Amino acid sequence: MSTTIVLFRQDLRLHDHPALTAAAQRGSVIPVFVLDDMACGDWSMGGASRWWLKQSLLSLGRTIAQGGGKLLLRRGDTLTVLKDIQSQSGADAIYFSRQYQPWSAGTEKAINDTFSGSGVEVKRYPGTLLHEPGSVLTGSGTGFKVFTPFWRAALKLPVAMPLPSPTVNWADSISSSEDLDAWLLDPEEDSRVPDWAKGWENIWKPGEDGAHGALEAFLEAPVAHYSEGRDIPARRYTSRLSPHLKFGEISPRQVWASAQQRKLSAPEWTSAIDKFLAEIGWREFCYQLIDLFDAMPDRPFKDQFAGFPWDNSEAHLKAWQSGMTGYPIVDAGMRELWQTGFMHNRVRMIVASFLTKHLLVHWLEGERWFWDCLLDADIASNACSWQWVAGSGADAAPYFRIFNPIAQGQKFDPEGEYVKRWCPELAELPKKFVHAPWEAPPMTVASAGVELGKNYPEPIVDHKTARQGALDAYEVIKKAS
Ligand SMILES: Cc1cc2nc3c(=O)[nH]c(=O)nc-3n(C[C@H](O)[C@H](O)[C@H](O)COP(=O)(O)OP(=O)(O)OC[C@H]3O[C@@H](n4cnc5c(N)ncnc54)[C@H](O)[C@@H]3O)c2cc1C
Repeated sequence: MSTTIVLFRQDLRLHDHPALTAAAQRGSVIPVFVLDDMACGDWSMGGASRWWLKQSLLSLGRTIAQGGGKLLLRRGDTLTVLKDIQSQSGADAIYFSRQYQPWSAGTEKAINDTFSGSGVEVKRYPGTLLHEPGSVLTGSGTGFKVFTPFWRAALKLPVAMPLPSPTVNWADSISSSEDLDAWLLDPEEDSRVPDWAKGWENIWKPGEDGAHGALEAFLEAPVAHYSEGRDIPARRYTSRLSPHLKFGEISPRQVWASAQQRKLSAPEWTSAIDKFLAEIGWREFCYQLIDLFDAMPDRPFKDQFAGFPWDNSEAHLKAWQSGMTGYPIVDAGMRELWQTGFMHNRVRMIVASFLTKHLLVHWLEGERWFWDCLLDADIASNACSWQWVAGSGADAAPYFRIFNPIAQGQKFDPEGEYVKRWCPELAELPKKFVHAPWEAPPMTVASAGVELGKNYPEPIVDHKTARQGALDAYEVIKKAS
């Protein structure tokens, strides 16, 4: 009987998995996951993502075990592991979903080249996008660099229906699996880092069931408020699907199909649902951009930004990372990130703008911090979003659009609810001053128990001065270009 090795990657699910479905149709299946840190160069998985990965692999392993199989876990070079498992099992095919990270194509080619002509069939299937990079093209056949026409063109293409979970004849285990605990994926298992993931299991439910639960809960009601509510960080009006999508516990096709169904049962929510789907479109767009420019995680898309006069103060970077800038909306966001592995999108934009413009710290520093701290850290969305905010990306916000952290706080967190949740030392401040405590009369600050410079920092930079500094820095590259 034919035996296929299915290499699980960022597709940790059984439903809507074309590679698994095809493998199941041809015979028995050996499911394998390889933690290949060397393949990604400087972008090996960050700490928060490792926590999620462990939970997700446990979940996938349980589901496979319920069907009588065993998920093989290995660390090391993907190709070496596959050669080893293939020679032990005699498998005559290796199937996997395509990955779109800049380093993935090399791994996929190496697998293909190694086994071609050896009687082992290697097949790559569409992975975790609605449309493969290169399939949404301009009239002249090139990739889009601007989101709106990209999404308009994408909406004209059909989206295939998601596949059901196949009935799989899991192969008897021929090879030993590594112990997941030995991978030290949890912060508390690695003595070098603090256990900052404490309590995350109460907030998140990694795995395929958790992903579907999150989608259903979102489509049940919150999606109705998505258009306006998605900018209110104190409210739960977004899906929080990003870590599930990042690990492929749910596919965008599944999200798409469920959202279309919801439009039929709640037609009055159509425009909110379409707005939500357009955000899924941003994820697609980021992958299409990184396909066009694979240096996106490391280099500015717009060349002129290579000569930007960054200040890169270590002290400012530390204050930003630890949520101690003295700007409450920024500090609340950075603390939400540290405590939950997540940050609301509106606040991501505010903190990114603050780092790159008010503090003139290179966007790469922010990108790297997010890479380590975000559960949804995604090479394309993270790089493109940082460059979008910094002004150096494709279809980016113009550099001179500098978010005012006080006005942003007042607009999107008018009651100060979000700030007070993550900066409890400001909880007693009247809402009028919660986004600018230094403007409150001394009596007000004192009676709220706030001691600026003691239990909450003074602003590390003055907004107006920093704004002007950013504009001046921008002039340097404008003149040079
Ligand atoms: C500086 C910065 C860094 C970011 N880094 C990441 C990252 O590493 N990983 C990541 O998934 N998203 C990133 N984003 C995009 C966005 O903030 C998150 O996708 C979103 O907050 C996730 O929350 P949600 O699932 O509730 O989103 P929803 O609003 O419910 O959106 C649904 C899905 O659409 C996708 N999406 C939404 N907004 C965007 C966007 N702007 N760009 C790309 N995809 C989007 C996500 O997959 C998300 O789960 C970043 C944004 C900024 C400004």
